[in-house]
Amino acid sequence: MKKNLISTMILILTAVTALFAQNNDERIPAKGFAVYEENGHFKPYEFTRHVVGDHDIQIEILYAGICHSDLHHVFADWGEEKYPMVPGHEIAGRVVAIGKDVTRFKVGDYAGIGCMIGSCRHCDACKHDLEQYCEEGAIMTYHGIDRYNGNEYTQGGYSNTYVVTEDFAIKIPQNADMSKVAPLLCAGITSYSSIMQAGIKKGDKVGIAGFGGLGHMGVQYAVSLGAEVTVFDITEDKRGDALRMGAVRYVNVNNPEDLKGLDKTFDFILSTIPAKYEPIMYLKMLKFDGQLGIVGLPAFRNMPAITVADFVLPGARRKVFGSQIGGIKETQEMLDYSVKNSIYPEVEIIKADGKQIDEAYQNVLNGKVKFRYVIDMKTLK
Ligand code: NDP
Ligand code: ZN
Repeated sequence: MKKNLISTMILILTAVTALFAQNNDERIPAKGFAVYEENGHFKPYEFTRHVVGDHDIQIEILYAGICHSDLHHVFADWGEEKYPMVPGHEIAGRVVAIGKDVTRFKVGDYAGIGCMIGSCRHCDACKHDLEQYCEEGAIMTYHGIDRYNGNEYTQGGYSNTYVVTEDFAIKIPQNADMSKVAPLLCAGITSYSSIMQAGIKKGDKVGIAGFGGLGHMGVQYAVSLGAEVTVFDITEDKRGDALRMGAVRYVNVNNPEDLKGLDKTFDFILSTIPAKYEPIMYLKMLKFDGQLGIVGLPAFRNMPAITVADFVLPGARRKVFGSQIGGIKETQEMLDYSVKNSIYPEVEIIKADGKQIDEAYQNVLNGKVKFRYVIDMKTLK
């Protein structure tokens, strides 16, 4: 009798072990669009994601935003990249599976993923909810190495599904406008976080330089806080849009008349500019103790510079800070704030199609998008 019991138990244990081993081997099939070389075209790509671990959720991707950072990666503006590469770090979708220890999500919930999917969680930065500055390195949503999942090369959101630890997923309220949520996960949080770091309050004079994906979110957040907002960009095309979004002034920096009288008038200027420019022009526009927040990151070969003299010579006592996205806690705060106050990006929805993504990239480069392309991943064939 005892012998029987033991052999039954061994049988059950073997079966469970076999099942577990099998599950571990069964990676999740995924498909999307990748570039296969620097500056390449988008073509279909099939790959796999790791299994849903105990703390993971699997998301069916509904929408993926196209951020200018994706272009920088595809064009290798910031150094060498690895291909095939599936970009996309503005991801909004629906939870389709959860691990056994997941507590914050259930199947059917909406969830988002931004620029990062993991960090050490115990360094000083992580303890301060600033996982993007993790001392061991934040794991990026794509073109990253996921050291907690077999060092796999991460692939991004221009795809049908993603598996992520629940701690790096953002809860999207059920009443959110899903077709517009994805860009909040990068464009939204990056501008929101900088504006919060600058301590913007009612009546402050705020400039937003670069009126694209990040910039038009920055305008909306600053306006919602009661700031008096001026927009800086390089064309006339977006003057009406800036005023419609609540800016009090639009400056076409190519028009010298527009720039007159602005020196020493701003409390804060946020630069989201992705190309070569002269930061000194914006420094001069700050009041004493004014701040220049820099988030735009042009190609390394085109990097703008600020000299020591720019800080110390007359008109000094101005502060410059750089910022990367925001931590997970702040990203959740931003998302809840945005949905509650109906602050969304203005989006152009395109189909999940290589040609359309290629075209969108050209339009972003040529300043022809208002204001963010979002790929409808449900149209993926
Ligand atoms: P977009 O292309 O959507 O917007 C950039 C805007 O800047 C466009 O309106 C563009 O005009 C305008 N612009 C270009 N040159 C100038 C200039 N010299 N002066 C004023 N305006 C100018 O880009 P995103 O908003 O998606 O991204 C902006 C930058 O921020 C990128 O470098 C990106 O990599 C970076 N980024 C940084 C993050 C961070 O965490 N720090 C996070 C996400 C993005 P036009 O359209 O006419 O060309
Ligand atoms: Zn981005």
